[in-house]
Amino acid sequence: METISSIKTRVYRFGNKNADGSSEMKNLLGGKGANLAEMSAIGIPVPPGFTITTEVCTAYNRLGQEDTIYLIKEEVESAIDFIENIMGCKFGDMENPLLISVRSGARVSMPGMMDTVLNLGLNDQAIDGLIRKTANERFVWDSYRRFIQMYSGVVLGMKPLTKEDIDPFEEIMEHLKEKREITLDTDFTVQDLKDLVYDFKDVVRKRTGKEFPMDPWEQLWGAVMAVFDSWNGDRAKYYRKMNGYPSDWGTAVNVQAMVFGNMGENSGTGVCFTRDAATGENVFNGEYLINAQGEDVVAGVRTPQQITTLGSKKWAELAQIEEKDRSENYPSLEELMPKMFYELNQYQDILERHYRDMQDMEFTIQDGKLWILQTRNGKRTGAAMVKIAVDLLKEGLINEKEAMLRIEPNKLDELLHPVFDPAGLVKEDIIAQGLPASPGAATGQIVFFADEADKYKYTILTRIETSPEDLEGMNVAKGILTARGGMTSHAAVVARGMGKCCVSGAGALKINYKERTMTVEGKEYQEGDWISINGSTGNIIEGKVPTMEPELSGEFAQIMSLSDKFRKMKVRTNADTPKDAKVARSFGAEGIGLTRTEHMFFEVDRIKAMREMILADTVKGRKLALKELLPMQRSDFEGIFEAMQGLPVTVRLLDPPLHEFVPHQLATQKELAEDLHISLSSVKTKVAELQEFNPMLGHRGCRLGNTYPEITEMQTRAIIEAALNLKEKGIEVTPEIMVPLIGTVNEFVVQDEIIRKTAEQVFKERNNKVEFLVGTMIEIPRAALMADKIAERADFFSFGTNDLTQMAFGYSRDDAGKFLSIYLEKGILTSDPFEIIDREGVGQLLAIGTERGRKTKPSLKVGICGEHGGEPNSVEFCNMIGMNYVSCSPFRVPIARVAAAQASILDKEQNS
Ligand code: PEP
Ligand code: MG
Repeated sequence: METISSIKTRVYRFGNKNADGSSEMKNLLGGKGANLAEMSAIGIPVPPGFTITTEVCTAYNRLGQEDTIYLIKEEVESAIDFIENIMGCKFGDMENPLLISVRSGARVSMPGMMDTVLNLGLNDQAIDGLIRKTANERFVWDSYRRFIQMYSGVVLGMKPLTKEDIDPFEEIMEHLKEKREITLDTDFTVQDLKDLVYDFKDVVRKRTGKEFPMDPWEQLWGAVMAVFDSWNGDRAKYYRKMNGYPSDWGTAVNVQAMVFGNMGENSGTGVCFTRDAATGENVFNGEYLINAQGEDVVAGVRTPQQITTLGSKKWAELAQIEEKDRSENYPSLEELMPKMFYELNQYQDILERHYRDMQDMEFTIQDGKLWILQTRNGKRTGAAMVKIAVDLLKEGLINEKEAMLRIEPNKLDELLHPVFDPAGLVKEDIIAQGLPASPGAATGQIVFFADEADKYKYTILTRIETSPEDLEGMNVAKGILTARGGMTSHAAVVARGMGKCCVSGAGALKINYKERTMTVEGKEYQEGDWISINGSTGNIIEGKVPTMEPELSGEFAQIMSLSDKFRKMKVRTNADTPKDAKVARSFGAEGIGLTRTEHMFFEVDRIKAMREMILADTVKGRKLALKELLPMQRSDFEGIFEAMQGLPVTVRLLDPPLHEFVPHQLATQKELAEDLHISLSSVKTKVAELQEFNPMLGHRGCRLGNTYPEITEMQTRAIIEAALNLKEKGIEVTPEIMVPLIGTVNEFVVQDEIIRKTAEQVFKERNNKVEFLVGTMIEIPRAALMADKIAERADFFSFGTNDLTQMAFGYSRDDAGKFLSIYLEKGILTSDPFEIIDREGVGQLLAIGTERGRKTKPSLKVGICGEHGGEPNSVEFCNMIGMNYVSCSPFRVPIARVAAAQASILDKEQNS
């Protein structure tokens, strides 16, 4: 038995406007537990309960069940006492039973990732007491059958056996509905529900070989342990991996008194947001259902109604429902229960002001009494994130730095994604409409199962509804379409979190999983058919629709200029064409940090000359071919320099192994032989000669320019001539010529000499001059270590962290995919080092390189141009070690600007 100090509190109580914990204790109590404590302490009516800490979950993973129960038993028993006293009922009592919920709650919200058990404490005896107490037999039997169903799934592991299988309990219910010729769960009579309970218990007996547990304490411990187990379930693991959360965080368990929204027409339940989670607009909104439990709202079985009358009217307009029909059949909570709405509206205001952020709240009305079940900072789209941060700033609830820190840089990506081109849209092609659940546009081929979402290149995952098991497929698909479910359904919430386009609740779609078809008003669509969805309007469109770049909002511009106020580092872009350069400039790039010249050689008109150069056996032959390439390179550079209008441009000399440029197929080899008037066998011999065992460590980078100096000469000439041509047009450029992949000082010195000599030659010929710099990439560990010596000659350094990571780890960039995912799964690596800079190892090389370089040359300009330059965590590291700039792909420029600003805000906060 492990000894952990017995004084330590492992169970924290909340309720009756009091709490042992607070919102600061998220790591220990999980987000949900900390918020429940906080809410209770500020006077919000939350049902009383307690939280078992995340530390207990971590201990459970070492200790196992028995010892864990022993560790917390006393505290849990006393906490149950506490709830009993507040609610005036007793756990396991036959007359007046206390029912509880058991939920998971990690330190960050992981929607739908972990399991929940409701109505725990019910058994064959307790139902009688509850019936007497509530005088509502139907509600009690309904709660009992829900409990058996949930508990069996979550704790006893009774899940569908195959993906086509339906839940065994759902199957029983469907049979009964068919037999009784009814369609809704609410149509079941008391006798039906009793029969269901009997049948459910029978299934449990048959499947598990045991009776369904009747002892409430056995039920409670089973549920607590199941929540702990769910932390290591596949869904949670996948979610952690996707978000980079460590596995040792653990989850807390929240045990809370049940309150019931299904106690009749004076009860209900709902979900609400203090602002619009899709657009960020400051409007209170949400959905509710009368006489229902929480699951009913998100499960999408019944159509949820809107909380506010304004929202209800908008919804009816979209669904094409007449006002009279709406107000009679789908009234808002505001209309139906004005007192409850008034209270709820007050609490949402208090909570938003308290947390100073948009809140996502769950509430239940039990027989005319409002309970707030939970609140958390609401998940939102990228657009909403930006608007809410700017609005809260304007409203004085947060300051500029806080507004900056409210931006999740990676989420900005969503705003930059394409929308449908209106010119390509034909109104008649709209086949149905659903709810605009997560904005953006997507076009793809229909797939019906999440594990087949990668069947085609572009897919729309089309489902009756989604569940947490579908997460991976949802991530892979271009868009998500569901026939059922409201704005708070699983599909909608998860899609918004992922920034993925989603249309939910499109009731007109009849989906048949067995046949793999979708029918809309008599027309059948098969798996593989193209459809398009618009997550901003809810439109579902037949066929492919072309997309176009989005327009950026004023708030986006405000966040961008705010980021410029705070950041220290410059943000450049990696761009190989004038088009990319222009896009990047429009996103605020302050120069080009990397132009990969080889990309230009792959275009049809150039590849031939390039191949001719590679196949030439003599210097003379190579020079002749390079002469053909010169004007093309020069005009490429002119285009890029012009697009950047005088901003700095770093051009890298040829880098990849030459075999990448030669044809490997017989037909193209034949073509090349004919074009160059040489024999096929000489082409084949040359191609074979270029083949290398380790091309990434072979004849590439500066090794090309050092063995074929004429290549460096031609490229330098093209760069300098382009700069001179622009100078004559009135555009001043200072090209930065960059030598790739050096490991020794001499490798750089030889290239530097060639470059400077060639430049002087061109200046003489043209009788004109431009300023230029000669620097190098640092992408071989040895170069980082020799930085002091290299800086004696180099004007600047740019860290090529793709190669540096490859060489520091010894993982091939091309082959690492085979084992990286397994390493991540097994926890051998905590994140992919090609994605997020490995601060511990590769980070040292960056720090040493920068420090040693600057020791020789204090003004040395240092930047990064590997993929990490646009990844927020890596950008923060670059800021920490004092880099001058990061360079990233054009669409990541806004992300890097915000990440750089956040890095300097946090840096200052830490140092003040
Ligand atoms: C790098 O290695 O980080 C780099 C930018 O160069 P490339 O990816 O072209 O090898
Ligand atoms: Mg490289």
